[in-house]
Amino acid sequence: MATRREDQQAAREARLDELHGKLTAAVDQLVSGEDWKRALAFAANFRSRSFNNTLLIWAQHAAAYERGLVPESTPSYVAGYKQWQGLGRQVQKGQPGYQIIAPVTGRFASATPQDADSWRRLGKFEKPRPGEAVRSKMVGVRPAYVWDASQTAGDDIPEPPRPKLLEGEAPTGLWEGLASQVKAAGFDLVDVVAASEIYGANGVTDYAAHTVTVRGDMDAAARVKTLAHELGHVLMHGPENQDARQHRGISEVEAESVALMICAAHGIDTSGYTIPYVSGWAGQVEGSEPAEVVKSTGERVRTVALKILDQLDTTQVGNGTPPGLERDTPARETTRQAVAADRATPVGREPVLAEARSL
Ligand SMILES: [Zn+2]
Repeated sequence: MATRREDQQAAREARLDELHGKLTAAVDQLVSGEDWKRALAFAANFRSRSFNNTLLIWAQHAAAYERGLVPESTPSYVAGYKQWQGLGRQVQKGQPGYQIIAPVTGRFASATPQDADSWRRLGKFEKPRPGEAVRSKMVGVRPAYVWDASQTAGDDIPEPPRPKLLEGEAPTGLWEGLASQVKAAGFDLVDVVAASEIYGANGVTDYAAHTVTVRGDMDAAARVKTLAHELGHVLMHGPENQDARQHRGISEVEAESVALMICAAHGIDTSGYTIPYVSGWAGQVEGSEPAEVVKSTGERVRTVALKILDQLDTTQVGNGTPPGLERDTPARETTRQAVAADRATPVGREPVLAEARSL
């Protein structure tokens, strides 16, 4: 016969599974929406650039920022003059282009492709002779100029929904309980004043230095959610878990899903942050639909969330429907305190924009 504790454990597992199923469905719904598709289609206009060109763009953008010409210190979407025109935007007067190195390619034709010496370069409008194979090859480089989106004006730039920071109080004892698990795993907890000290992130886990950092300039609810997220990284993604480190996108999906479960068990609805965040990172994993990525992490996420919850001596929401992701559930006291704030975060933009950037 199952003991009461076993029954409770089974009930909790079932609740977490249900919660994870709802997260998966919410991600699926978000990424199939029009806004999301428009944003992805827009991002697809930007090609990835070489490492050297990325450095050139960042350095020149930083210089433009110093001069007060652009509002953000880091570039967003970057494209050439005509490409911006094609997207319905115009480079504004007085904005300097960033010089990069563009490849120059030539077309070559050969009737006997196996013979390396037989290839001849075609003139600009020259057509190959019948039966000839044609290849493009880089023959040199030339300087080219690109502009950041903030240096242009015109049609709006479609952006996907951004994660919204939680507002309000944290449940009693939750910060302390999570902090002691971080310490028990051998990590020191570091407080920093602002996101700018950790490259715009809300939190950072450093496996080499064995530190977890959470920014101080957020409400307690957002800080405790971030701490749960970082504890997820600590327990799941260290160097000893090599198989779990296959893709940053998967790690972020897992850590944030753990945070959602920990918070839901304490009556905090994190969906305003978690759904866009998880969707953005799941969308970075190539070869799978975002909802599939989320779904595939379910087992690991539940195991880690249960492990964390078991070691907490906080008051947890015992029965009933988990508050996270339930749009039409009446708000509980703690849920209402932790409503999502309409504040964009740099780290929130990162999943979708940074990787899709033309850098
Ligand atoms: Zn993370």
